[in-house]
Order: sequence, then structure tokens, then C-alpha cells
Amino acid sequence: MATKIPEIYGSMVFNEKVMRDKLPKDIYKALRKTIEKGTHLELDVANAVAIAMKEWAVENGATHYTHWFQPLTGFTAEKHDSFISPTDDGQVIMEFSGKELVKGEPDASSFPSGGIRATFEARGYTAWDPSSPAFIKDGTLYIPTAFCSYTGEALDKKTPLLRSMDALSKEAVKVLKLIGKADVESVATTVGPEQEYFLIDKEDYKKRRDLIFTGRTLLGAPSPKGQEMDDHYFGSLRPRVAAYMHDLDEELWKLGIPAKTKHNEVAPAQHELAPVFDTTNVAVDHNQLTMEIMKTVAQKHNFVCLLHEKPFAGINGSGKHNNWSMSTNTGVNLLDPGKTPAENTQFLVFLAAVIKAVDEYADMLRLSVASAGNDHRLGANEAPPAIISIFLGDELTAVIDSIKTDKFFEKGDKVVMEMGASVIPHFTRDTTDRNRTSPFAFTGNKFEFRSLGSSASVATPNIILNTAVAEALSSFYETLKDVSEDKMDEALHTLIKETIIKHERVIFNGNGYTDEWVKEAEKRGLYNLKSTPEVLPRLLDAKNIELFTKHGIYTETEIKSRYEVLLENYSKVLHIEACTLKEMVYHDFIPAVGKFMDSLTASILSKKKVSDKISTASEEAMLEKISAKYEKLAELTGKLEADIAKAEATEDELGLANFYHEVVFEDMGAIREVADYIESYIPDEFLPYPTYSKMLFYV
Ligand code: ADP
Ligand code: MG
Repeated sequence: MATKIPEIYGSMVFNEKVMRDKLPKDIYKALRKTIEKGTHLELDVANAVAIAMKEWAVENGATHYTHWFQPLTGFTAEKHDSFISPTDDGQVIMEFSGKELVKGEPDASSFPSGGIRATFEARGYTAWDPSSPAFIKDGTLYIPTAFCSYTGEALDKKTPLLRSMDALSKEAVKVLKLIGKADVESVATTVGPEQEYFLIDKEDYKKRRDLIFTGRTLLGAPSPKGQEMDDHYFGSLRPRVAAYMHDLDEELWKLGIPAKTKHNEVAPAQHELAPVFDTTNVAVDHNQLTMEIMKTVAQKHNFVCLLHEKPFAGINGSGKHNNWSMSTNTGVNLLDPGKTPAENTQFLVFLAAVIKAVDEYADMLRLSVASAGNDHRLGANEAPPAIISIFLGDELTAVIDSIKTDKFFEKGDKVVMEMGASVIPHFTRDTTDRNRTSPFAFTGNKFEFRSLGSSASVATPNIILNTAVAEALSSFYETLKDVSEDKMDEALHTLIKETIIKHERVIFNGNGYTDEWVKEAEKRGLYNLKSTPEVLPRLLDAKNIELFTKHGIYTETEIKSRYEVLLENYSKVLHIEACTLKEMVYHDFIPAVGKFMDSLTASILSKKKVSDKISTASEEAMLEKISAKYEKLAELTGKLEADIAKAEATEDELGLANFYHEVVFEDMGAIREVADYIESYIPDEFLPYPTYSKMLFYV
């Protein structure tokens, strides 16, 4: 029986339609104004909205409400309160006020703040974000909120994201006015994140401490078959996986998340889901929800959904492609080349702004995707390199070149350039891009930032992108603001041309996986920040502090707090991984190897007892081979243990992160090499946990 999709779509969302039905006209209008223009919401309006929201929520089975927020953990947080309010006669009524809708006061002391929030001031505030719709999940009304400290500093990812969207809107509108688009009142950034994930069997998962504690396998010999046959990508869906995806879509649709595309990915047991794009703020909330629902639906199907960036060594990890563009309130995509020379000019101004932004803040874009998990992917020839560059494609590069050199732009034998009033060449949209190695690719009418890790919030990369582009537009405005109307076309041409010449080093259309590119990028002076500890200190660089404070995205205190949190988080992840590996080797692996060696010894002895004419050579050879490595494994694990102790005694946060990266991480790799070698000789029945073959090929 097919469910009627239009009926269930958004059925759990307090969306436009519900608002229009439930709210008095004037209240609805006031709320729309707040959503569209960010104007202040009066308490009487909030009260009316709260009543309607509660009524709708209760009708749909909700008993509780929660302020839902995104602390710096990268996850979401919630605290549930019920609507009930006791009355004098021992009954209860369901109540929800405007004040409760607008503001919450969760205890903030257990969320990371990077030293912002003194422990004596534990209070934090959550504030309703009316631009992201409320929804019902598991009997609770979820209200998307921003989260800040008692003194007003942002303790979350939503606040700076909203600030960055405002900054970009403000600067874009100023530039658009100069180029004759006086009707534009606001510009929103849009995002469509493609999400990759793995599905493995729940029973397998439960047997692996590494997956339980760290989300990735710390040991595991490669299976005989990996992804070399390319037979999984877009392959037909196995029934169990298809059933999962079907349920997942339905759950997402109920929450108004426009899940659109689903398919198998390159690696075995790997899949992808992409929604239709939305305003950045909503897309970020939806991606957080999507990750959560992916996990809960998996449980129902006896799967576990792995969102770690690198769950399995030797096969592709998971990322997220952040499709990004800018769109006016009049419905124009500013990264669409358009059909006329004037539209082309507008496109090229915004394209130039993105090029400038990416070149000048490449270090921040790299930082925005840095995590212990994502370090496994970037630069490993399965995800973009750690070097940030832009792919424009052949045609657009030809357009850019023609501007740079003032030459006619020709497409085939057709001269496409129209000099006319404008000195900008005319061209039409072309979507030939399929360069999968570029971290930042133009794909016809949007950019695709491909370096994101699968588990991270997409808020941070978009905060950086929005802010860096806002800054580029702000500098364009300064250059153009005093130009008279009759000189504007020429000034625009000069501006675009000079921007291209200055920043073309960041444009690269070739294969990003080659060593030549690494050398070439170094010659061009581009950053190649390979690991998280290497990139994090860039946050405190004067140019970056200036960027964020100028546009009101972060205060200096907020920047420092984020630096602390990121650094601490990296070390914590590595610490958990190291301890888990140690435990796994001592509690699971060494005993298993010991048992296998015992069985070999027993076999040798019993054969010898029967007759010394029976050969024990193969058992002895195996025993020798394993026991030599077994000694090595014990030695290396001893070293890991000692290094964990050293790390635990290190005070300096940056020194600690570097120590984890340079020493502990290497220790773990060395252990894995030896253990995986041994594992390849151990029969499955001796191993206390499932092998790669079992996990990846038996779903
Ligand atoms: P592919 O990258 O596989 O070619 P599409 O180009 O159709 O797929 O889109 C990939 C993602 O980009 C989808 O989530 C889509 O909604 C999103 N997208 C399309 N246009 C925009 C836009 N203007 N802004 C942001 N995301 C967009
Ligand atoms: Mg894509």
C-alpha cells in the first residue's frame, strides 16, 4: 500500500499552511514579517503564535515541547518540558505561553564553551529562531533555537550562522543596488547537502568496541574484495537496504525534509541521500535532523548507521557535499549566468566575489571542515585534497580568460561575445563539470564545497563561506560606490578583471589527486594544511579575527572559545581512540591470538604423540610467524600505553593536540599494521568480533 506522499509531507511541521490556517490574519502577517525581515516579534504576537502552536501540537499527539539547539559539540541538544499546568481543582490544562516559546534558560554548564562561561554563571539562554519551522517528533514539539551565554556570547552554531547570513545579505544588497537592482531587499544563501553514510548489521556493530566507542574500526584486515570492481556505485538496492531507505524517506518527509535522491555509493555498504536545497539556516537544521533520523530508522531495521568520516580503512570514507548559492528575495539565483549580457555581468560580479573569498580565506574554509575524523579523508585520494582550490570548468575558464586578456571569447566557431554597451562577454549556462577531485567546484548555477566530513554540522562551513563572500562584496562596494552611472559598466569590467588577475591562483581545473598539483599549489602559495592541529591555529590569525569581528559574526572572545573547543575536541577524540584500541588489543585481540596459538600448539603436540612421522611443519611455521608478530604487538601496545600516559600529563592544549597527531596516532597505525597482519591468519571462529568481509558484504 503506497502512502500518499503529498498528505504526509510536512504533516509534522508547523509550516506556512498551518500558520495561515491557525493564526489570526494580523498575527500571521506580523510573524511573516519577522521571518522574512528579521524584525522584532512583539510579546502579544508571540503569545498568539504559542497558543496556535500548542493547539496544533496537541492535536498531533504532542505532550511536551523543547527548545532545540546546536551547541559546540556539533550535535543537537534538547530538554523536554510538558505542556501541563495544574489547576486549583486538581486537574491539569495544557499551556504554552509566548514567553516559553521565545526564550528558554537551560543550564549551560555542561556544554562546551571554551572558557567563555565561568562555572559560577551556568545559565544560558535559548532564543526562538522563527526562520526555521517548529516540528513534532516522538510526541514533542521541537522549537529551533539559538543558544547563548548569560552575557550574550554565542555558545552554538546557529547564532553565528544567522549572523553570517545577515552579513552576506547586507553586502550583497548594497552591491546589487549599484548595479541597478534596486528592487532587491534581501539575499539568502541556499544549501543542499548531499549526505553519505554506511549501514552495517546491528549484531556486528555490538561486537566491536571500536565502532561503539569511536564510530570507526581501529583494527580489521582488508576483505578479499574491496571497492575495486566499482559494482556498488548506483548498483541496485538490496531489499533490506531499500526498505530502510523507504522508511527513512517517509520519516524525513513527515518533518518537511525534502529528501530527493538516494543511491548506493562507491564503497560496499555505503549510501547517499540528497535533499532539495533550502535556505541555509533551514538546510542546516534539516541536515542535523536527517543524521539523527538516519540513525533511529536504522535501529528499527536492525542496522546501525555509521556517519563517521572513515569507518573502514582501505575503502572510501563518507563526506558531505555542500551545494551553495545566493538567491534574492525576488527569486534570482545570483550564481546563474542568465540569458542576457546584463545578467552575465551580475553573475560575474558574484562569481568574482566567491573567487576572491575562497582565495583570501582558504585557510578558514579548510578549518571549517577540520576534524579528527575528516583528517582521514582529505588528501587521501578519495576526497578532495587538503589544498583549497576552485574548479570552474573549461567554458567558464575561457570566459574568465577572455576578460583577463580583453580578447573575444569564442565557443567553437561561434563568437559568443557581445560587446554592446557592456564590455562583459555574453555566454550561457554550461554544466559540463564532473571533476570529482576539486574541493570547490562550480556546477552550473551553484558551487559545491566537497571537503565536508559526513558527521559534522554543515553550519561552520557555511558561516565561513557566507562571511568571506560578504567581505569580498563589501570590498567591491567600496571600490564601486562613488562611480557614476555612465561609468559603471567599465568600472565593473575593471573590477572583475582585476579580481580575476589577483586571485586566479586559486583556480585549478586539473586532477587534484596528483603529486604535481601539490607541488604546483605550493608554487602558487596556496595553503596545504594537512591535519587538524596544523589548521586550528589559523583561527587566531589577525586577518581572520578581523574578518569575523568586522562583520559581527564572532567577537574575539567567541573566536578564542571556538579555538579552545576545537582543539580540546581533537585531543579528546584521539584519546578515546587510543584507549579503545588499547582495550581492544588487550581484551579482545591478544586473547584471541593466544587461543589460536594454543590450538596450534595442541595440534602439534597431539600429532607428535601419535607418531613423529606425521608432519607438524605447517602448524609450526604458522605458529612461528604469528608468535614473532605477537611479541611485536605486545611491544607496540606497551608503547601506546606509555604515550597515552604522557598525553594525559600534558597541559598545553596545542602541544597536546600535536602530540596526539604526531605520536599517538602513529602508535595506533603501527599497532594496526601488525594486528591486521595477524588477523589475516586467524580463523573467524577465534575472533571475538566480525571481520571486514562479514560487516561489508553480508548485509
Ligand atoms: P548533482 O550534484 O548530483 O549533479 P544536482 O545538481 O541536482 O545533483 O544537485 C545536488 C544538490 O544541489 C541538491 O541537493 C540540489 O537541491 C542542490 N542545489 C541545486 N541548486 C541549488 C542552489 N541554487 N543552491 C543550493 N543548492 C542547490
Ligand atoms: Mg553533487
